Amino acid sequence: MASHDGNNGSTRVLVTGASGYVAAHVVQQLLQEGYQVRGTVRSLKNPMKVDPLKKLGEAADNRLELVEADLLNAECWADAVDGCDYVMHTASPFPMGNPSDENEIIRPAVDGTLNVLKACTGKVKRVVLTSSVVAIGAVALEPNKKLTEDDWLDEKKPGIPAYNKSKKLAEKAAWDYQAGLDDGQQFELSVINPALVLGPPLTQQGGSSIEIMIRTLSGKDFGLPKVMLPITDVREVASAHVVAMTLPEAAGHRHIIAGSSYYLSEIGVTLKEEFGPQGYKPTSRNVPNFLVIIGSWFSAEMKVFRALLGKVVEFDNTRMREVLKVEPRPLKETVDDMAYSLIESGKVEKTAKYKGRSSQL
Ligand code: NAP
Repeated sequence: MASHDGNNGSTRVLVTGASGYVAAHVVQQLLQEGYQVRGTVRSLKNPMKVDPLKKLGEAADNRLELVEADLLNAECWADAVDGCDYVMHTASPFPMGNPSDENEIIRPAVDGTLNVLKACTGKVKRVVLTSSVVAIGAVALEPNKKLTEDDWLDEKKPGIPAYNKSKKLAEKAAWDYQAGLDDGQQFELSVINPALVLGPPLTQQGGSSIEIMIRTLSGKDFGLPKVMLPITDVREVASAHVVAMTLPEAAGHRHIIAGSSYYLSEIGVTLKEEFGPQGYKPTSRNVPNFLVIIGSWFSAEMKVFRALLGKVVEFDNTRMREVLKVEPRPLKETVDDMAYSLIESGKVEKTAKYKGRSSQL
């Protein structure tokens, strides 16, 4: 991966929400590229979140420093940003369902982004903001039309989940804030819009992506809602952040990071090939749509899936491939690597027939 800033080992990068699923990979890749990294966590006293990061730092000559910061605490960000050349702002609430009060998600996303950006003003060269394809939209308007970086979610439409609104509003707030800065206060902004992120986690933390895979591999659910989601690999998402941090052509742009779109049941079908012979029964059938609709009356999570029923969602990844030079890998590699990692770390139980990756079944 080529760095474009002449990093001589003293360039410092702040990664917000460093213990998150995506952020831990960003931290790892930055360390591998020789950067000094400062990561924020909400609490340094949580070993489950902090210890895996400490290991990453130790493997990189202790070039990782961890500090505490909360998105809703405006005061803490000046110190966190101080001395940093770049900021990767990945922290944002990403729950599985819809909270009863959508501001539980929207406020930390929007106010938190502005708190971080205000601290960056006049101080850093570039901010890379982790947005999402949900800020771009969920429904292709015409058959065969792929959504591009020019599209924006209309969050005022009925049924839009709180998380989707939070990502659109936070990204929009970031662009508006940056556009309004005076000369001399400017920093560059580049945005990464990942699809559903899968792939091996580096930390023991849960999270929506990890929860989806644990449930599918464990076969705990009778079936999966028939919704189609674009998928990307966490390692590609992290690479995209690192490239977008210094690549001149990435400044001032959004970047969709997505491979193809798949029905959730196709993840189960893919898992079955590798893990079926090893005693696992991944969920690979769809539940009828009417059950999702009934489920949505009682479950916040089903409400999110209901909004996607019957919708074809394809995203154009031209900028990802041609500008950032990040290529999507095959779905099988992503889901197999993730499943093995979850089994080996004890998040999914080993079956009696489990043989591990080297098995020639
Ligand atoms: P994650 O593992 O849940 O990470 C979220 C991070 O945000 C955690 O480190 C969390 O800190 C932090 N955070 C949440 N609320 C905070 C607050 N009030 N103050 C400080 N930190 C706070 O989720 P992820 O999948 O890595 O998501 C990372 C980013 O990628 C998010 O912006 C998400 O919207 C975006 N994204 C994710 C996906 C996906 O499929 N995973 C797809 C598209 C975009 P704690 O550990 O203290 O909770």
